[in-house]
Amino acid sequence: MDTLLHDSDTLAFYDREAVAYAGRRDQAGPRLHDFLARLAPGARILELGCGGGQDAAAMIAAGFDVTPTDGSPGLALEAQKRLGRPVRVMKFEELDEAGAYDGVWANACLLHVPEAGLPDILARIHRALKRGGRFYAGFKAGDGGDRDSLGRYYNFPTEESLRAAYGAAGNWAELELSHDRGGGFDGVMRQWLHVEAVRG
Ligand code: SAM
Repeated sequence: MDTLLHDSDTLAFYDREAVAYAGRRDQAGPRLHDFLARLAPGARILELGCGGGQDAAAMIAAGFDVTPTDGSPGLALEAQKRLGRPVRVMKFEELDEAGAYDGVWANACLLHVPEAGLPDILARIHRALKRGGRFYAGFKAGDGGDRDSLGRYYNFPTEESLRAAYGAAGNWAELELSHDRGGGFDGVMRQWLHVEAVRG
């Protein structure tokens, strides 16, 4: 770990595997459809860790004003090819806007933020949202930070530690956690924690 806020080995993994990772799925899941259904038509959405750009493509096709970003230059390039528009290379800790977005979509990406840095990143997202703005993020559940078999760092939170990290980041008018089971690029089935929050 070289900084408190991101893991360079994890970003290097995504850069190396950018083509394979970007080609791994085409469909946006029902969770994204539910998220979009709660936003006004044409709402302004920031996507963090957009990967190959599949979710951004679905949001753009649905008429939303999307800003896709990713911390891996290789994956940002793959997303750019899919979307036919610029994708900003941006690490989470570089988010520095205030009251700019109606929604922040962070599918399966904040799970790579070092545990101690998570409240800082969540506070940046809180600040970037307009009041009443919606925020979705998904995490792999566990009992603390560790690496998977591919060398990627995960924060593996408990429900309690995740609630504490969100609580430290700002005031949320709504904070709903749910869980299910799902796979990942490493082929391992795990419990996932999904968090839907509304800025207070
Ligand atoms: N959201 C995409 C999806 O659902 O297919 C990609 C998910 S992938 C598991 C995690 C993504 O987070 C990768 O695209 C990776 O480059 C990005 N990422 C990891 N650490 C990051 C960081 N510190 N800042 C910005 N992006 C990061």
